[in-house]
Amino acid sequence: MRILLVEDEADIADALLRFLRARGHAVDHAADLETAGAALDVAEYGAVLLDLALPDGSGLDLLRDQRRRGNRVPVLIATAHDRIADRIAGLDAGADDYVVKPYDLAEVEARLRAHARRASGDPAPESRVGGLRVDRAGARLFRDGDEIRLTSREWALFDALLSARGRVLSRQALEERLYAFGDAIEGNAVEVYVSRLRGKLGPDAIQTRRGLGYLIP
Ligand code: CA
Repeated sequence: MRILLVEDEADIADALLRFLRARGHAVDHAADLETAGAALDVAEYGAVLLDLALPDGSGLDLLRDQRRRGNRVPVLIATAHDRIADRIAGLDAGADDYVVKPYDLAEVEARLRAHARRASGDPAPESRVGGLRVDRAGARLFRDGDEIRLTSREWALFDALLSARGRVLSRQALEERLYAFGDAIEGNAVEVYVSRLRGKLGPDAIQTRRGLGYLIP
């Protein structure tokens, strides 16, 4: 999924970026409120990790502003371990959850995914698509107990469609969920990944609505 990481400490940001990208997420990084606000205005994120103490102000102001404008994207705030008041203020400002620094990268990623699943209307860690069992928490797919191996991009596309299950997503909408700012997007990447997924999952796992896009029914 596409994640917005708002963090001004370069070491922390680098570690998170590497970790999240290695797990197939498209991650945009903003080191201040202004950049974060601009990114939220134009991109649709699956989840946001928001540091509170930023060089141009408090992440709480950005969070309140986004909620006031109706943005319901899942937001996790990052707080120092001794700042309980920050956590409370963050939750009251519309955060979905918090993580405490220094955090465990795997736990942060799992929380981001869990909140994104919940926001998409299906918090269950497992679902079924046709004859497939989907382990969304583990990012794995099985048919009759046998794992079908997907690349991280193939999984990202499948997961994006599953998060919008029953709705058609256009090629552009899928590209926005698969790529961060600055990523090189091959012109027909979505078609290529859909075709590969059909090859692995069967022809009916992903449906095409001609001229509109794709869906998992
Ligand atoms: Ca900070």
